[in-house]
Amino acid sequence: MPDLHALYRDLHAHPELSWQEFRTAGVLADALRPLGYEVATGFAGTGVVGVLRNGEGPTVLLRADIDALPVLEATGLPYASTVRATTPDGADVPVAHACGHDMHATCLIGAAERLAAARAEWSGTLLVVFQPAEELGQGARAMVDAGLFDRFGTPEVVLAQHVSPLPAGMIAHGSGPVMAASDSVRVTLHGRGGHGSAPETAIDPVLMAAHCVVRLQGIVSREVAPSERAVVTVGRLQAGTKENVIPDTAEIGVNIRSFNEHVRGIVKAAVERIVRAEAAASGAPREPEFDWYDGTPVLVSDPDATARTMAAFAEHFGSDNLIPGAVVNASEDVGVFGASAGVPTVFWFLGGTDFGRREPGQPVAMNHAPDYAPDLEPTLTTGVDALVVAARTWLA
Ligand code: ZN
Ligand code: ZN
Repeated sequence: MPDLHALYRDLHAHPELSWQEFRTAGVLADALRPLGYEVATGFAGTGVVGVLRNGEGPTVLLRADIDALPVLEATGLPYASTVRATTPDGADVPVAHACGHDMHATCLIGAAERLAAARAEWSGTLLVVFQPAEELGQGARAMVDAGLFDRFGTPEVVLAQHVSPLPAGMIAHGSGPVMAASDSVRVTLHGRGGHGSAPETAIDPVLMAAHCVVRLQGIVSREVAPSERAVVTVGRLQAGTKENVIPDTAEIGVNIRSFNEHVRGIVKAAVERIVRAEAAASGAPREPEFDWYDGTPVLVSDPDATARTMAAFAEHFGSDNLIPGAVVNASEDVGVFGASAGVPTVFWFLGGTDFGRREPGQPVAMNHAPDYAPDLEPTLTTGVDALVVAARTWLA
């Protein structure tokens, strides 16, 4: 697949941050048009939608995300990124496809090509969706809100994959909740500033924040049932400018992962309760403030639709190449498409690491790491096959 290899290397070398995927969208639209698809660009900003109407039958949506991350690539690949970009708040950052979305986009172009070439063998409507801003958990919602289903019809099923450091050539899948809900909150704690030598004249928000960080770790161990799954991480703690000045405020940034609405509700409520109580315990002059953002819902791979799709995968790839029971604490917004349309989503993890090429015991990089990149083959071929087989399972 020389053209697809060239496309992958080109996308990899030219990564773009979330909501800045202008070049990427242009390249993908140019690849799609000659295949006979009706192509909509600029959809919800930088999204691209391709439609292939091929007679009576179900509509099937295949989705790839296309954005990259503010990461300095350290893969040493000949097509490694040297790109830099400016974030919305003006910071100059390196950019890399450290999550492998370039692989997803290339696989989808490959599948679009194969399905168009085989159009005599199926009927229905194929929707290929290239989604921006997955890393912010925003792109799927934005495309739905921009009228994706009003304009192109409601699909019968949403199909998507994510590359991961599992053995290349293999596919892992779960059934039911497969990726976590993610919620973030900016907490502002209010104290009263003063001289570091006279703490009795001040109310110290640094101590308040420190207690919050420690106490929040009790939520998962003491308030969530051991049979459930949740994560609470305080990834940011900021206060003060000088060691002998007690500041007025402190900020903490908390991220939560959960797998059902019940636990999600328990953890979110516990965060607010504990922070308010710590502020009260310190005699804070004002209630703390909570700014919740980036809420990505849990990703559910519909059990019945997954079973039907995985049966087709077992036939095509052999059941030895399927790894069942995959659940990860990372998050994905693709579930927003299926949930908004009221139809099943089927999601699987595409193995992307050729362990035969690595020394025994050599560490394997994870998505988002500076040295992460999938091995081009057999990852790409497997990813194209998976999308084609999955789509054919649902098209007439
Ligand atoms: Zn990612
Ligand atoms: Zn990703």
